[in-house]
Amino acid sequence: MIGEPLFDAESIAARVADIGTAISADYAGKTPLMIGLLRAAATFLADLARAVTIPCQLDFIAVNKYGDGDGIALEKDVAIPVEGRHVILVDDTVDTGLTLQYVVKRLLERRPASLAVCTLLDRPHRRIADIEIKYRAFEVPDVFVVGYGLDYLGRYRELPALYAHGTWPA
Ligand code: 5GP
Ligand code: MG
Repeated sequence: MIGEPLFDAESIAARVADIGTAISADYAGKTPLMIGLLRAAATFLADLARAVTIPCQLDFIAVNKYGDGDGIALEKDVAIPVEGRHVILVDDTVDTGLTLQYVVKRLLERRPASLAVCTLLDRPHRRIADIEIKYRAFEVPDVFVVGYGLDYLGRYRELPALYAHGTWPA
């Protein structure tokens, strides 16, 4: 069950606006390719794209985790070629960083002009993989977060704020 919001819609909008301003300045004169990790980052990317004031392109990628170890595979690839592009990979949560490390590796194989990571939530103390994060909206403690695109067993994605869920999915 969920309780009080960790971050309400206004706080999220303020951080999204900050990051949109930073991206617009950092990529001025370029047309970055923003790639969202499905499904949880879709809400964040939709808002972020509208906070960016320079031209950009949007695409999505999805991964599957299998087994109980670190098996990861691409479930859905991007449609727009990555070679030579300034890519901004947009994720919902970087925890161990293992998911992102896999996606970054797969994208770097295609020789983008640059690749930066932007995440809504970050738990740096849980990190295993060495991932450089350029833009981050919020750092969160060891609570399972839902809402604003993030689910618990498929639920709560539609909530406009971020909430702590009482339990972690099994
Ligand atoms: P990592 O590979 O970095 O350990 O895990 C990252 C992925 O785990 C995220 O993209 C997200 O799908 C999921 N995840 C990690 N923490 C949370 C959380 O608090 N809430 C939700 N809904 N998903 C999470
Ligand atoms: Mg995810």
